[in-house]
Amino acid sequence: MELPVLQPEEHVLSTLEHDGSRRWIYPKLSKGVFWQYRRVVAYVLVAVYALLPFVEIGGKPAILLDLAAREFTFFGFTFLPTDTLLLAIFIVTLFLIIFFATAVAGRVWCGWACPQTVYMEFVFRPIERLFMGTAGRGLKPRQAVAPWRIAAMYAVYLVICLHLSNMFLAYFVGVDNLHRWIWTSTPFEHPAPFAIVAFITGLMMFDFCYWREQLCIIGCPYGRFQSVMLDRSSCIIGYDERRGEPRGRGRDREAKQLGNCVDCHLCVDVCPTGIDIRNGLQLECIGCAQCVDICDEVMDKTNQPRGLIRYSSQQALDGEPTKLVRPRTIIYLVAITALIGVFVTVLTNKVPFDVTLFRGGGGSYQTSESGAIENVLRVKLVNREKTDAVYRFNVEVPADATIVEGDTSAPVAPGATAMHVVRISAPREVFRGGKTELELRIVNESNQLAIERFFLLGPY
Ligand code: SF4
Ligand code: SF4
Repeated sequence: MELPVLQPEEHVLSTLEHDGSRRWIYPKLSKGVFWQYRRVVAYVLVAVYALLPFVEIGGKPAILLDLAAREFTFFGFTFLPTDTLLLAIFIVTLFLIIFFATAVAGRVWCGWACPQTVYMEFVFRPIERLFMGTAGRGLKPRQAVAPWRIAAMYAVYLVICLHLSNMFLAYFVGVDNLHRWIWTSTPFEHPAPFAIVAFITGLMMFDFCYWREQLCIIGCPYGRFQSVMLDRSSCIIGYDERRGEPRGRGRDREAKQLGNCVDCHLCVDVCPTGIDIRNGLQLECIGCAQCVDICDEVMDKTNQPRGLIRYSSQQALDGEPTKLVRPRTIIYLVAITALIGVFVTVLTNKVPFDVTLFRGGGGSYQTSESGAIENVLRVKLVNREKTDAVYRFNVEVPADATIVEGDTSAPVAPGATAMHVVRISAPREVFRGGKTELELRIVNESNQLAIERFFLLGPY
């Protein structure tokens, strides 16, 4: 018996056919104003990505995420796992900046700066159009393409993906290591990095050859969050329905009382995610402005004003005033400014070494023959610099406390961690309720100072 199954009237998703198969998108190319600007931005970003691992600031790589050594260098500053406060502030600030940018400018990141869009639209798609014979105009290849062209295209893709994944690895191991591994050793000597490069190359090939717009539509979490981050005042790419409708073809538009949209379907043909922006803002729209460019071209040809599809806001498209300043943008801005302030303050007051105090073994405290109370502490020192360092320490508080056993200075090798044991003696009278506060003062040879606080244990 045949089950009654509802048949969709047309494809449910822009890239899905009735039968569930993938509808391949071959977007037409519009070389309008926004495309020209986006191309400049894209090639600058490609150059930045390729060159950044080679740039050094203050003798350190501009960016190095050294997972093995657990050191993260950003523009001259090296962060260690102990910098959790800075890392937390950095991550929260980054998220707030994304929220703020999206609330104000919509999907500007997706359309202009996301690596997926940049490489897909300005590296891989142009190569595809070159080999498929549609360079400069896009759309589906008209005749059967010679197999050598397809093979050559994938060969070029592979070389680019290999290069990109090697550059990606350089952000984690540094260009010097990468260069040495590539030119002076075999993959068997360094199987892990080799496997990482092979895996990332495979992922990129899968993405740029096959997955493409599906990453934006179903794979990217940022894309899915859009609906909560945008509001009616956010900048979006929108179709001016009041101006465009009723759409229709033909001359004598006034007599027929037609709107500005000539229903040429070109805004759909250029869309890399295959949607029709005339149906309103959709989750699939990555804000690439290709529909703006092509529609402006159509408006020019039909002697109508540009901007039927344009950067605007839902409020403006509905004929209401757009509010740039609104509670969510103010809250985001205040929070971002405050967090950046805290980050800069913590960073600039940070000394190039870390100190952590631990209680030593052998009981909580001892009483000396003179009646003083002694605590054994372990001082963990991390030298964050690239040179040898010697740290001196003394007790600031309580006033009469001293280090009676263990050196009062400790050398630590560059980037190394050392554990130093000291015995601290304090007068019995300073203890209240079984403890007293300790302030240990640690200075390096440059007189940079850290004060570590701890509790000494003693009698009640
Ligand atoms: S490109 Fe412009 S005129 Fe053509 S269908 Fe789209 S909105 Fe209408
Ligand atoms: S609707 Fe326009 S801006 Fe959005 S993805 Fe399609 S072409 Fe780009």
